[in-house]
Amino acid sequence: MKNSLFIQKAYINGEFVEGNSTFEVINPSTNSAIGTVPDLGVADCKNAIVEAHSAWQMWKERPMGERSAIVRRLFELTQAHKHELAEIMTLESGKPLKESLGEVEYGNAFVEWFAEEGKRAYGETIPSNNTMRIVTIKQAVGVVGAITPWNFPLAMISRKLAPALVAGCTMVLKPASQTPFTALALAKLADMAGVPKGVFSVITSKDSKGLGEELATNPLIRKITFTGSTEVGKTLMEQAASTIKRVSFELGGNAPFIVFDDADIDAAVRGAVAGKFRNAGQTCVSINRFYVQDSVYETFAAKLTEAVSNLKVADGFEEGSQVGPLINAKAVEKVQAHVEDAIQKGAKLQTGGQQLKGNFFAPTVLTEVADNALIQSQEIFGPICALFKFHSEEEAIQKANDTPFGLAAYFYSQNIHRCQRVGEALEAGMIGINTGLISNAAAPFGGIKQSGIGREGSRYGLDEYMEIKYLCFGNE
Ligand code: ADP
Repeated sequence: MKNSLFIQKAYINGEFVEGNSTFEVINPSTNSAIGTVPDLGVADCKNAIVEAHSAWQMWKERPMGERSAIVRRLFELTQAHKHELAEIMTLESGKPLKESLGEVEYGNAFVEWFAEEGKRAYGETIPSNNTMRIVTIKQAVGVVGAITPWNFPLAMISRKLAPALVAGCTMVLKPASQTPFTALALAKLADMAGVPKGVFSVITSKDSKGLGEELATNPLIRKITFTGSTEVGKTLMEQAASTIKRVSFELGGNAPFIVFDDADIDAAVRGAVAGKFRNAGQTCVSINRFYVQDSVYETFAAKLTEAVSNLKVADGFEEGSQVGPLINAKAVEKVQAHVEDAIQKGAKLQTGGQQLKGNFFAPTVLTEVADNALIQSQEIFGPICALFKFHSEEEAIQKANDTPFGLAAYFYSQNIHRCQRVGEALEAGMIGINTGLISNAAAPFGGIKQSGIGREGSRYGLDEYMEIKYLCFGNE
């Protein structure tokens, strides 16, 4: 492949390095190998952590203006190489090229945002109740261990890396083994931008468990940041407890999408398609459960079915592709099992419902889904719309909140009072009101309940990488 960012080596302490063994990365659209990367182990990870710790001593002392300028250069270089990045992303994740380009823009918006926001990491001078003088400053947390998933191979890294760098932290990253090439491309760009050696390392490995444990327990690491499943989040949190590391977790969701009788139904259908089919439904904020008020149920279901059956399912490089493959055969099996379970419990299949060739799954609409269907309680992570019916606003809120998760929730209504009421009552960290797309670098992204801890993006996203220190000046 002619792509200057396609690198089949890991990146440690400013060098692209090989390993004793390698593993293949598979294109989910064709199931053929794209290339190989080193299969590194815990010892390599330990070395990278030591280098990151040593680099931190220097990096945290650089003036904010210098760190900010380097992060800004990373933004500019990423913009300049967006087509190469998008090509790599589509190859290894399968998402349509247009979505990959969108992800480069989206992920890079965090880099731009934090290059600027770093300059505003203000402390305070606090009025004292005695003769002491109280001043606060913000300082880098330290070495950060990061673990990221395959569904957003770039953006899930950018929104951790940019605030960490500008804050003065250093980072050792373990990207998902399905999508390491995007992470390595970002490492190349960071290198070109002038990020000093040791400040950012990328460890490619098949040993998620071993590396996860190392990152979560190594005493030189002060913070662990993770995006992925709630199950793995719980393990990492337990492991991080041994050294009381700071944690930021963005975990699983079970997003409800409520359509009230006073909604603009056509807008709701557009929002539903946008919020459901991005990345073939493989996002943590993807709509999992549609709750539709009984009086508009038939109309919404018919319009949604029509829109969904018109979606173009194709290889991500094909012109006009809207829905690409799922990440692998296991994901296809899980989605198929969810559909079969729902149908067996009484759901009606309106469109789709079956595997197409390879890892492609037909965009699906199921109506009359029973409350005890697996889809009600488990994250689907696939192109399935499951429609439930409700009668009253109270019932919709109760059902929407009936989950241990609380990442995103969406609803459509044109009544301002209802919008305020429901927006406040839904138990989720992010609420889309008359929109199916909520992600934005300027907004705080994150969950409540078992969907996570901490926020990414916005000014709060910078605080995750900084400690507040209080300086008490005696004044006698
Ligand atoms: P997903 O369903 O998105 O793959 P995971 O939580 O399994 O969600 O994976 C997200 C990231 O966590 C990936 O980089 C994966 O390699 C990593 N991971 C998986 N299992 C573990 C583990 N036991 N400890 C640490 N990281 C893990």
